[in-house]
Amino acid sequence: MSGILYIVATPIGNLSDMTSRAIETLRNADLIAAEDTRNTMKLLNHFDIHTKMASNHKFNEHEAVDYFVNRLLNGENIALVSDAGTPCVNDPGFVLCEACRKAGIEVIGIPGACAAVTALSISGLPSATFNFKGFFPREKKERISELEKIKKNPTETYIFYESPKRILDVMEVIKEELPKAEIALCNDLTKSHEKTYRGNAESIYAELKNNPNAEKGEYAMVLHYENEEPPEEKESLDAPLSLEAMLVDVMVKENCTMKEAITLLSQDASKSPTGKIPASKKEIYASSLNLKELF
Ligand code: SAM
Repeated sequence: MSGILYIVATPIGNLSDMTSRAIETLRNADLIAAEDTRNTMKLLNHFDIHTKMASNHKFNEHEAVDYFVNRLLNGENIALVSDAGTPCVNDPGFVLCEACRKAGIEVIGIPGACAAVTALSISGLPSATFNFKGFFPREKKERISELEKIKKNPTETYIFYESPKRILDVMEVIKEELPKAEIALCNDLTKSHEKTYRGNAESIYAELKNNPNAEKGEYAMVLHYENEEPPEEKESLDAPLSLEAMLVDVMVKENCTMKEAITLLSQDASKSPTGKIPASKKEIYASSLNLKELF
């Protein structure tokens, strides 16, 4: 019988967020697949965990997958961790998880910290539907095109990760392209000095400029944009039907020719979609010529 792959979330800045289930799972696993073994060693030392580790970083993920899958198929249990937070969320893990799905190997999640979900949960912005986009694009052109897409699809809430080195530039682009977007910009979530900037890009940009520590730590950004322009007026469903539309309606419903439809519509009110004779035979005939021209 094959073993189980455990996807284990680890803290994103506060070791107290390590769950007892995560500690137990890492202790009991036959092997820990880690994004960076040196980094995970610190976590293991802190929690007195002595399980062996093997590396599963984004550059060897495809080569390592067979090794892990074989061990799982041989009945061993493997715990997958990334450097921080939930594996597979902008971190390695998907390749192995997908391979397990295809091989029929059971995968169990050990939930815990995730910067995107933590940021969304404290943002105070609509959270019913959200779109997690990973890192904000680096190039100005791509940034503008990303914001253009948001403009076209408002009402959804977007979550981005961003580096502290680029955060001012990003706010500057949003200030120009989406000045009315509501933002919750979360810095160093779960740490004792965590801070969330709230407002539009202009006010946040000014706050960041005044903070000498702004270009430090880690950022997750939640952005919501409501288009305030009135929606385009849609054609009313109650608009009167044209004679042409009525003719088509009769032809479809009665499965008849145009000639028969003209007769029915001008003589039998029960066949008309409005329940009334809409016009004289002459007028209906004129409409049938319009229809013929159309086709
Ligand atoms: N798998 C992780 C998760 O579950 O959140 C995300 C990994 S991704 C490579 C790392 C990025 O997540 C950072 O560059 C930053 O944008 C964001 N991030 C991680 N920890 C954070 C924190 N404590 N506060 C704000 N953002 C954080």
